[in-house]
Amino acid sequence: MSLPEPTVSQLAAPVSSVWGVGEERAKLLARLDIFTIEDLLLHKPRRYEDRRKFLPIRDLKPDEAATVRGKIIAAGIKCFKKGMRAMFECVFDDGTARLHCRWWQAQSWMPDWYVVGREFLIFGKLDDDKKPRTFTHPETELVEPGDDEFIHVNRIVPVHPLTEGLTARVMRSLIWRALEKFEKEIAEPDIKLDLKIFPERSNAVRMIHFPEELTDVEIARQRLALDEYVALQFQIQSRRKKFEALSKALPCSGDNRLMKPFLAALGFKLTAAQTNVLKEIRADMSGKHPMRRLLQGDVGSGKTAVAACSALMALESGFNVALMAPTEILAEQHFRNFTKWFEPLGVKVALQTGSRKSGEDGGLQMEDGKRVRPSILNSPSSIFVGTHALFTAGFDLPKLGLVIIDEQHKFGVAQRETLVRKGNYPHLLVMTATPIPRTLGLTLYGDLDVSTIDEMPGGRGAIKTFVRTTEKLPKVFDFIREKISGGRQAYIVYPRVEVADTDKDIKAVTKEFENVQRALNGFKIGLLHGRIKPAEKEKTMADFRSNKIQALVATSLIEVGVDVPNATVMLIENAEHFGLAQLHQLRGRIGRGAHESFCILVSDAQHPEAQARLKILEETNDGFKIAEADLKLRGPGELLGQQQSGLPNLRFGNLAEDLNLIRQARELVAKILQSGR
Ligand code: ADP
Ligand code: MG
Repeated sequence: MSLPEPTVSQLAAPVSSVWGVGEERAKLLARLDIFTIEDLLLHKPRRYEDRRKFLPIRDLKPDEAATVRGKIIAAGIKCFKKGMRAMFECVFDDGTARLHCRWWQAQSWMPDWYVVGREFLIFGKLDDDKKPRTFTHPETELVEPGDDEFIHVNRIVPVHPLTEGLTARVMRSLIWRALEKFEKEIAEPDIKLDLKIFPERSNAVRMIHFPEELTDVEIARQRLALDEYVALQFQIQSRRKKFEALSKALPCSGDNRLMKPFLAALGFKLTAAQTNVLKEIRADMSGKHPMRRLLQGDVGSGKTAVAACSALMALESGFNVALMAPTEILAEQHFRNFTKWFEPLGVKVALQTGSRKSGEDGGLQMEDGKRVRPSILNSPSSIFVGTHALFTAGFDLPKLGLVIIDEQHKFGVAQRETLVRKGNYPHLLVMTATPIPRTLGLTLYGDLDVSTIDEMPGGRGAIKTFVRTTEKLPKVFDFIREKISGGRQAYIVYPRVEVADTDKDIKAVTKEFENVQRALNGFKIGLLHGRIKPAEKEKTMADFRSNKIQALVATSLIEVGVDVPNATVMLIENAEHFGLAQLHQLRGRIGRGAHESFCILVSDAQHPEAQARLKILEETNDGFKIAEADLKLRGPGELLGQQQSGLPNLRFGNLAEDLNLIRQARELVAKILQSGR
């Protein structure tokens, strides 16, 4: 079973088979990741110029980029003062007016290139409305009178990403030639597309480079993006199919004998959303194939309780459970919760993190510091809580029925795969508190079914968010002092551990800690960051939980999962240095109890985009809306963080925009796979 190859082998030929590409140019093209003819044909233009008619220089306006066509009437290097760097300037004339173009750093090739009498196309924007009319650092293209005029002028032309030594004009010519010769080799993949809506693939490739109208560009892009998504979905869905054919599910539906007393002792009633999700999970765990489910829910929506119930189903069925968290703090928090919940039910809970290693006897550490004897590994119905250390080499959990991964975006897709291979295809529940925009969900987790908790437990105080400048900090600290005096607690977050020489303006916890102590004197302040020893970290967290510490000065280390309902203030300085999703996560640390909570984002950022981003947080508490906005503003790589390895390499697809295309691709591929081809 395979997707009909969208291309045939001719297109896989080296790019040197295009006329005009010799050894030298092939090397330059390789710098742009262009190795084959197909790579060249799919080299996406970075912008377009409408060269059907040129604007007279006389009519140029300061705020509008435009292309003009003019002859050089004067050119040369200018030095204003001794010792200053040289500037290169040339003057163009198009018969209506003159245009001065300047480059602040004269390059040695310029005098030989910008020669009086030569004709150029010049793309740029007037510096201001003063005379002489001036472009600074415009893009230019030499007009060569000759045979391929129709490629470079009198039409909408593409301007491609370039590299030094390769001009826009050469690139355009190469692509034109490649199209002329190989266009008919671009095969239509057999995916039953409605060709009334989408152009044929070969047509789309031509249109993306040489559109008749500018509106053609987006149509062509969509077609080419769809092909990318189809290929991607094909990978995802056939992997899942293969997996299902391979693996039989362990029966883990449970019999409620632990669940009943657990729910009775829990102290709250599950929300309707939590109950619904549990129904889906139970159906999965009693199904034919091992569960592969992503559970998403905004911070504080109660995913841990859902995880606990799922664990109980497996435990009741006589299987062990592994729960993996991304940090030690979180693993320990889960360990504490699960110990509190499960020990009374007679279920053993064990902890395994990097700093609390299993002993030589293969045992695991318990909360009271005692080692678990290896016998626990053989007795049924245990839950193992830990970081990725849980799955380090040589440590195979026996009778593993369910693996739960919390905050999974920190792990990466490949890791997830190897993880569940360890056991006998246990059920897998992945939990994420970073709401993932639908497009990313379908792309990254297309092989997982998705459940969403879309309701917050009741009885929570509201969270108010404010953006303030540093000028207001004294007032902010007065406010925090007032809240702490009233019995509440606060988080105070800075981007850095230590002040960096290169960026003295970015505040760091180690330095600010003293300032905070001064500002909040009389109260106990804790310090938390990645370079503090685990034992000390744990002690600080324990003191914060029991309100021995009133304010915690921390890095974004506390971003995920930490749960202290009495903390109602979150102050984040240099807020512009955090991603939106990250700020939302941080804000999720408050608003967990009945008291009203306050998130104060402090930033002096002048940039309108930075201000717009912070404003989004002021306006909404909805994690999905924030994630969508973040995706649009920063792109998927930034949104997911560096650790994310699973992002596909898309030339035409735009994950911030293409939900509909991804959905279509998904359906098309599902149909193809169903028909069993
Ligand atoms: P998250 O989804 O961010 O992991 P948690 O599972 O940490 O959220 O839950 C946040 C808080 O809400 C915890 O203190 C938890 O005990 C509480 N909680 C969970 N479910 C409910 C519920 N149905 N009603 C009331 N409180 C709940
Ligand atoms: Mg959580």
